Amino acid sequence: AWERVRRRLRAELGEDVFSSWFGRLELAGIVEGVAYLTVPTRFLKSWLEAHYAERLRVNCIAELPAPNGVLLSVRPVSREAAAPRVEAALRARPVAAASTIAEPGKPAGANPAQPCENDPVDACGTALDKRMSFQSFVVGKSNQLAFAAAERIAGAPAGQSPYNPLYLHAGVGLGKTHLLQAIAQEARRQGKRVAYFTADRFMYGFVAALKSQTALAFKEKLRGIDLLIVDDVQFIQGKSIQQEFGHTINALLDAGKQIVVAGDRLAGELEALDERIRSRLGGGLVVEVGELDEALRVKILASRMEALQGAHPNFQVSPDVVAYVARVVTTNGRDLDGAANRLLAHATLSGQLVTLETAEAAIRDLVRTREPRRVKIEDIQKLVATRYNVSRADILSERRTAAVVKPRQIAMYLSKALTPRSLPEIGRRFGGRDHTTVLHAVRKIEKAISEDRSLHEEVDLLKRMLQE
Ligand code: ADP
Ligand code: MG
Repeated sequence: AWERVRRRLRAELGEDVFSSWFGRLELAGIVEGVAYLTVPTRFLKSWLEAHYAERLRVNCIAELPAPNGVLLSVRPVSREAAAPRVEAALRARPVAAASTIAEPGKPAGANPAQPCENDPVDACGTALDKRMSFQSFVVGKSNQLAFAAAERIAGAPAGQSPYNPLYLHAGVGLGKTHLLQAIAQEARRQGKRVAYFTADRFMYGFVAALKSQTALAFKEKLRGIDLLIVDDVQFIQGKSIQQEFGHTINALLDAGKQIVVAGDRLAGELEALDERIRSRLGGGLVVEVGELDEALRVKILASRMEALQGAHPNFQVSPDVVAYVARVVTTNGRDLDGAANRLLAHATLSGQLVTLETAEAAIRDLVRTREPRRVKIEDIQKLVATRYNVSRADILSERRTAAVVKPRQIAMYLSKALTPRSLPEIGRRFGGRDHTTVLHAVRKIEKAISEDRSLHEEVDLLKRMLQE
């Protein structure tokens, strides 16, 4: 059946496109009607998601027993070797590998992320980025607690964890991944056995274990480690995968192993996860990483600039440009990275010094006057109901009259656009609907907006009202 999917894609897109983008796409397995597909690089993953998501989905649904769509993830560097390497890694305590330590002479940001290919533990987890170390982490009021907890956990002898589990939560770009990777690298340097997973790599590992029918539950494979780190836990989806995740967490905690998890919201608000896991995650040390204040932003940006200058000696930026950028880019570390890269691109392309004016132009679209407010699904439902003269209960109900269907679909669309909730979560919040229904609504409204100017304006207005 997978061959048929490939044939269809090849026929639809032509040999060239097919082999450039789909040649290395593989089916890892199908669980609960979701096809888990893998590609070898992060770049391929984002490219396929940005340009071919719908085509992939449609073809997989047509040919595979996968009515619930597809999920793409990046597979480990060497897939064939992965399984035996995992076992080997978990048996042998890896010696502190110099390759996982940030080299002092090479400051963060100087070179692109490199997977630590020589490190066997990565075969079962996610590659680490050497730039994300404790040394390169700038500490300020909003993150000092998280930093201190992370450092203590990384430094504590195996089996004597000071806080367990540690749950870090924060909005995007505030340093969660940086801290988790720093913990992983420091702990590993001290000879601890560390498994670091992003949610999608965890799901891949689970599906691959199922497929290889080694029948070894994931938690068995992980039994030999000292420290399990899971990033972006809010993306773990699929009932049996969540169950497995829960078993893994419970088994490791019961065995006294250290667990560190990061998510984009409080553990109790991880609707997709089992109640017991939520309470276990929420029952340890819970630390929020707060927004970056201006002083912190200046320091982060300055250190980023310094790193870039290490690789581009001609790239000069005056302190007042750094101060200006840090003042106006208020959102998060990711946007500060983006700003630094744009300044560099600008300087290299124009061959000119970066002035305040050119800086302003280069980063204009990263500047937001105010953080948009966190929008609640309930508020969306209420506002849309009022606007269209129906009740919120109508929106949640099964009624399918046009007078109710349209506002319902608009409310679902707005929920997807304005909140970080996943499609299944939104479905649940709309009277227990299926995520495919939500997806259908989102697509439908997107299309309608692109064709109907007045609807576009109307939906924009609703958006602004919700964000103010
Ligand atoms: P998150 O995982 O919370 O979305 P990341 O850890 O990926 O955020 O951070 C985004 C970018 O900002 C990364 O390049 C990271 O190194 C940088 N960053 C965030 N906080 C800090 C900090 N306190 N010191 C240095 N860099 C930071
Ligand atoms: Mg992250």
